[in-house]
Amino acid sequence: MTNWHEAATSLRPETRLLIDGEFRPAADGATFDTIAPRDGRLIASVSAASDIDVDAAVRSAAAAFESGVWSRSDRRHRQRVLLRLAELMLENLDELALLEAIDSGHPIGDARRVDVPNAARVVRWYAEAIDKVYDEVAPAPESALALVTREALGVVGAVVPWNYPLIISSWKIAPALAMGNSVVLKPAELTSLSALMLGRLALEAGIPPGVFNVVPGLGPVAGQALGRHPLVDKITFTGSPAVGRGFMTYAGESNGKQVALELGGKSPHIVLADAEDLDAAASGIAWGIFYNAGQTCHGGSRLIVDEAVHDELLERVVAVGRSLVLGDPLDEATQIGTIASERQLERVLDYVAIARSEGATVIGGDRVSPVEGGYYVEPTVFDGVDNRSRIGQEEIFGPALAVTTVRGAEEAVRVANDSPYGLAAAVWTSSVTTAHRSARALRAGTVWVNAFDIADVITPFGGFKASGSGRDRSLHALDSYSALKTTWIHLGDDRL
Ligand code: NAP
Ligand code: MG
Repeated sequence: MTNWHEAATSLRPETRLLIDGEFRPAADGATFDTIAPRDGRLIASVSAASDIDVDAAVRSAAAAFESGVWSRSDRRHRQRVLLRLAELMLENLDELALLEAIDSGHPIGDARRVDVPNAARVVRWYAEAIDKVYDEVAPAPESALALVTREALGVVGAVVPWNYPLIISSWKIAPALAMGNSVVLKPAELTSLSALMLGRLALEAGIPPGVFNVVPGLGPVAGQALGRHPLVDKITFTGSPAVGRGFMTYAGESNGKQVALELGGKSPHIVLADAEDLDAAASGIAWGIFYNAGQTCHGGSRLIVDEAVHDELLERVVAVGRSLVLGDPLDEATQIGTIASERQLERVLDYVAIARSEGATVIGGDRVSPVEGGYYVEPTVFDGVDNRSRIGQEEIFGPALAVTTVRGAEEAVRVANDSPYGLAAAVWTSSVTTAHRSARALRAGTVWVNAFDIADVITPFGGFKASGSGRDRSLHALDSYSALKTTWIHLGDDRL
């Protein structure tokens, strides 16, 4: 068994920007500190890209695209290179997982079993898809042939959050690169280290210089510069609604680039009186909100439960929450790690205070210290929540479940839909009819029945309403990183 604490002390992560195939400091030498949420200590200072660096990265990406070295390379070449990248991610699983665990606070066990393998699977899946997706021949008149083909867009800017750094990056980078685009990735300030390592592995796999650039930096500086750059053809973003809408402004005020947004949620779990297995529901609910300390865009942060099963269910949810091992992300036994930053920790604790002031019953809700100086909050349940209150409506992004009691399926679905968000939802019932009817009525990009968080690259992921537009994952994502081109060929009359 690896001693992860020892391994962490000998980590020498890459901290420079990856531009045009080279790691280099920011042009002005600026850096920012990245902190380990497990103990609040400095891990490293990371180069902070300014407008100048982002411009260099975008120009390099655009030049690589124009050159055709990747964009017009044989599909099978791109396939081989991306397959190699997926392999390299797995060959370097321990180092990547350790970077993710120390920088984001994910438990090392999850980082090794979930984050790295999932991200590698996404890269492999899109690589495999490259020579299996066909274009179209339109049903044109006899006198013509009409081809509808997909072409790469050009330069894709990917701006990602800190909650699943590798996984969310892979959702964006893999289909974009598979289609032949060049990419500039702006990781979250809190979690740049695994993205930089991914950049190194991409070079090693044979992705040509300029095709994949990584520019850590501050959102309002580096993120904005990417959003406003006239040579960027598309921004793909995951994060908060305010910043996401900011990217629409940047696009509108620059070149009208495409913007795809995934903006989080307040996903409801509906448990009806006829739910067959309350233990399974309780486990799905607890894991659905406490996994990754609740920092999951589709986290099941609302429980909408029929009064007939409220007490029985809640008792079990609380029991599962209490049984989870909250602790140091570098311990293999840990199931729930940290909140990603001190600011986010304060935000979560502020919501606990708001819950109390709004009259909810708070179970848990305290900061705990399995490691001194770290950002840990115990699994928390707010009972007796009015769905219209702030804790019923606002995304907390922490291990906090808001419980609202209802009567019957109709009221449950109405309350579930009474949200600005629409990312995911779940319904627990033993009636097939109620399951289907609820699934249809729920305004959410993903609906689970008698389950929560079954997920894979094979299906699309994204939201309705304020949860954003655009979809990550599945073959549909290939469409979002390409433009359709129509080619008409005149054939004349039917004589040969
Ligand atoms: P955020 O500010 O939206 O950050 C997402 C990305 O956008 C990061 O790379 C960030 O860079 C960048 N960014 C920030 N401000 C920017 C700006 N003015 N212009 C361009 N880019 C900018 O999210 P956050 O502050 O980390 O988290 C705040 C809340 O957002 C959370 O509490 C949660 O509710 C929600 N959130 C949702 C998701 C999700 O998966 N949907 C993920 C994370 C957070 P920096 O890292 O340098 O700020
Ligand atoms: Mg960090």
